[in-house]
Amino acid sequence: APFRVDVVTIFPEYLAPLRQSLLGKAAERGLVSIGVHDLRQWTDDVHRTVDDAPYGGGPGMVMKPEPWALALEAVRPSGTRLVVPTPAGRPFTQAMAAEWAQEPGLVFACGRYEGIDQRVADWAADAGPVSEVSIGDYVLAGGESAVLVMVEAVTRLLPGVVGNRESVEFDSHADGLLEEPSYTRPASWRGHEVPPVLLSGDHAAIDRWRRAESLRRTAVRRPDLLPAEGLSDADRALLDG
Ligand code: SAM
Repeated sequence: APFRVDVVTIFPEYLAPLRQSLLGKAAERGLVSIGVHDLRQWTDDVHRTVDDAPYGGGPGMVMKPEPWALALEAVRPSGTRLVVPTPAGRPFTQAMAAEWAQEPGLVFACGRYEGIDQRVADWAADAGPVSEVSIGDYVLAGGESAVLVMVEAVTRLLPGVVGNRESVEFDSHADGLLEEPSYTRPASWRGHEVPPVLLSGDHAAIDRWRRAESLRRTAVRRPDLLPAEGLSDADRALLDG
């Protein structure tokens, strides 16, 4: 069966990119199937209201729980993970993407305004796993763009979606380190040269250079990603060398 993605949002058109490019092709080939649902179809008043003032006062509006419950009861198969994007969530990582790609599908609940009444996520945990996740330490206006990010990260890990399996396995974050820089022709371009080792044909030397550059980049840009227990002697020698 295809990997099933359901998204509930008040801006269904925002999710149009899910039908394009890599994902559009994956859908055509039956690898993924995608449903986008307008939350307002589960309202019952003439104004199709989805928000209300926050209890306890304060600025902004909060998404009401009732339409969300009806929406999730309609679109979420029992046991399927519910993903709720929120800047107050745990950080979304490549490891999570890899884990979620093993599951039969995912349901996403896109918040707007100040977010969704907390009881929706609490209640939804009775029907399956719920992940409240953030895509980074900044605040977006809504969950839709976060869903585009996460769906792309997860679905490109599904078997057959990306042509060359290796390109997925060697990506940044796949092994915990940043990927080394890459180069293509011409070897000399506007006064900038490709590192000579890459033209040497010496594959052992190329592998050592790649590992060293990957370590160096990670040490400079993302020291938090280096192993807490320290580098192996071989990696330490590459980084220092
Ligand atoms: N009041 C919320 C807070 O401070 O935690 C911010 C709500 S934000 C303006 C509106 C919606 O955008 C959220 O419900 C969530 O769906 C989405 N959003 C904003 N920033 C996000 C982030 N870094 N990661 C994932 N979703 C985010």
